[in-house]
Amino acid sequence: MTPGRPVPPPLAKPIPMDTAKPIPMDTAKPIPMDTAKPIPMDTANPVPAQSSDPEGSTLAAAFGATSPDSGLVPLTVARRAPKEDDVEIAIEFCGLCHSDVHATRGEWRLPPYPLVPGHEIVGRVTRVGAAVQDFAPGDRVGVGCLVDSCRECESCLDGLEQYCERGNIGTYGVPDPRNGNAITQGGYSTSVVVDRRFVLRIPEALDPAAAAPLLCAGITTYSPLRYFDVEEGDSVGVVGLGGLGHMAVKIAKAMGAEVTVFTTSEAKFDAARELGADHVVLSRDEEAMAGANGSLDVIIDTFAAPHDLNPYFRTLRLDGALFQLGLPAEDMPPVSPGLLIRRRLAYAGSLIGGIEETQEMLDFCAEHGVASDIEIVGADQLNEAYDRMVAGDVKYRFVLDTATLQEPSERADA
Ligand SMILES: [Zn+2]
Ligand SMILES: [Zn+2]
Repeated sequence: MTPGRPVPPPLAKPIPMDTAKPIPMDTAKPIPMDTAKPIPMDTANPVPAQSSDPEGSTLAAAFGATSPDSGLVPLTVARRAPKEDDVEIAIEFCGLCHSDVHATRGEWRLPPYPLVPGHEIVGRVTRVGAAVQDFAPGDRVGVGCLVDSCRECESCLDGLEQYCERGNIGTYGVPDPRNGNAITQGGYSTSVVVDRRFVLRIPEALDPAAAAPLLCAGITTYSPLRYFDVEEGDSVGVVGLGGLGHMAVKIAKAMGAEVTVFTTSEAKFDAARELGADHVVLSRDEEAMAGANGSLDVIIDTFAAPHDLNPYFRTLRLDGALFQLGLPAEDMPPVSPGLLIRRRLAYAGSLIGGIEETQEMLDFCAEHGVASDIEIVGADQLNEAYDRMVAGDVKYRFVLDTATLQEPSERADA
């Protein structure tokens, strides 16, 4: 986008008002505790996890939290027998998202415990229900942050299930109305059963472990870039270089944009350039910030602590937009309305993406060879990985290899 170019079509639309609602899906609504069904934990006579009994649920090995300070411990989770629209998936990999840490530690709200986190799920189909035409056993598939929605409100009908007016059904920690209000349990597990409408196809060209983070970090950054219609020649700014930021850099580059990374740490300059950034700006260096003034079309702000946005608004051109993706626990410093008015700037939020757009993103990433930079961990390293995530010590996403979860029948205490 060049200065003076008309507002791109996506911005002609009003910014979805739903972004004003409390966001990460994980924070959606307080869950009445009485709807939480305890996971049958290490039952005396576990059903073999690979049971083929179509009537009965199967047990999957999992890791999750039993209280805010339990850390992640081995659990057993019951998965329903596939109903006619269901897809049963043997999970191979699951990305570790920062929301998983907040959720399991009860930092946003007290979740129903026990809680198995994980919404960056990749695996292979093992069974499908009678009405499922588009998936077959053996297909490589994924599940992101959503496993259902009302399917009939305006947002859902527009393929924007993440903004479902009745509240989307997150992959873990919320009651699932179409399944007896059972609490959804996520992907730190050996299997999961999900309605076909919320199952994604993972192109075989993508490495399955490196593709897992695309299902949250990837789509969260892809969606606003697509909404703004970023294309060859546009200039994109990325604030913060963590799990989200590194995906924003890669995807914006693959869209043909010139990318500027803003970071608080000089130590990240080389890493930003390795990811493909054309420019790197130290955000606490006022002179360097001023040097970027009026140079960008869109900014993807992934920084999750309160920070002053006004210096970033100054770096935008006429009709530019700043998308805020990080959700700080406290209020942000005030925004200067004059900065927005003088260049017709938009200040927007954005929440993951709908199912159709998530599939589009996966296909785009396969076509352009984009995936996450990952470090694979085993179940016994999960707690250490959480501590390292909180310390920012990961390049750029941990992914759990679910082969390291024991089957329930193999457990010492089974
Ligand atoms: Zn996430
Ligand atoms: Zn809906």
